[in-house]
Amino acid sequence: MDKRDNLSVVIHKKEDLRVEQSALPSEPGPYEVQLASNTVGICGSDVHFWKDGCIDKWVIESPLVTGHESSATVIKVGSHVKNLKVGDRVSVEPGVGCMACQVCKDGFYNLCPDVLFFGVPPTGGSLRRYYNHSSAFCHKLPDNMSHGEGALMEPLAVAVYACKRAAITEGSGQRVMVTGAGPVGLLSALAAKAMGAQDVCILDINESRLKFAQQMGIDKTILIDTKLDTESLANEVIAILGDSPDITLECSGAESSLNLAIFVNKDGGNVIMVGINPRKVSVSLSSAACREVNLLGIKRYRHSFPLAIYLVSSGKIDVKPLITHKYRIEEALEAFHTAANPTSGAIKVQIECFEQS
Ligand SMILES: [Zn+2]
Ligand SMILES: [Zn+2]
Repeated sequence: MDKRDNLSVVIHKKEDLRVEQSALPSEPGPYEVQLASNTVGICGSDVHFWKDGCIDKWVIESPLVTGHESSATVIKVGSHVKNLKVGDRVSVEPGVGCMACQVCKDGFYNLCPDVLFFGVPPTGGSLRRYYNHSSAFCHKLPDNMSHGEGALMEPLAVAVYACKRAAITEGSGQRVMVTGAGPVGLLSALAAKAMGAQDVCILDINESRLKFAQQMGIDKTILIDTKLDTESLANEVIAILGDSPDITLECSGAESSLNLAIFVNKDGGNVIMVGINPRKVSVSLSSAACREVNLLGIKRYRHSFPLAIYLVSSGKIDVKPLITHKYRIEEALEAFHTAANPTSGAIKVQIECFEQS
């Protein structure tokens, strides 16, 4: 009999998170691998599911393993798996399309109506010791990358995909404004620089986050004074960048930031809506329309993990300083409290899932 334990972090309902055993995975299917989970980062969405028991229409109705920013080691391979072998260390892409519908066949697997995404009901997440996953969605880590870095490839994939949607290109002299300096905003600014933006500035209402951004090499920062009107803030952006931004990566999800983006972005440029806005917002759409400012949404990412891994393994982006806290899986509740506490100074809280003596 299999004696391994499968300690897991399970959200039972709103504000009820438990560390408990869950069933061990069955043998991997032909195109699956079995993974020994190593490191899982806590995302803002995990915290939301814990605090609220739901995000939008996704409601936790029965106990659900959480977590989706994961690195792991392959311990079993299915009969048809060719891309991985036992012992490989991987970064785990958590959203798997059905690969049978037209959307998937067209390559847009992140938009598949039947996509299964870790930790979003009804699909269990990766904050557990063992699980199976599609081998096509496990990306091998180079030897020079740690598991901690591997677990950051998921949020970095969001940033890389946002920069791809924005058409950030080397040598094009693009100025980029990033609004919001949380983990995804920071990673978006770093990705924009690494992918060829000439100049990047980042805005936030939180001064300590901007200090952190400066330590990460994003030296142009603007502390948002919420009493300022959009035009005054826009003038600050133009002053620091030397011109209007060609591209905005809106990572805050705040209505005021989307309005600033539409107002200050160059005519004909791209504004990427990375942050999740409330369902209804009041923005000056006619201004965007008349000036051909393209408002582009993103749904997580597709085809972006390999580039994220390359940018880190080649030294173009250093994600390690973002990892501010590490916990063991047994301490998951404390880890979630740290991640949820705005005064903790946490940027990225990670949980190690393997057995430690
Ligand atoms: Zn996430
Ligand atoms: Zn599909």
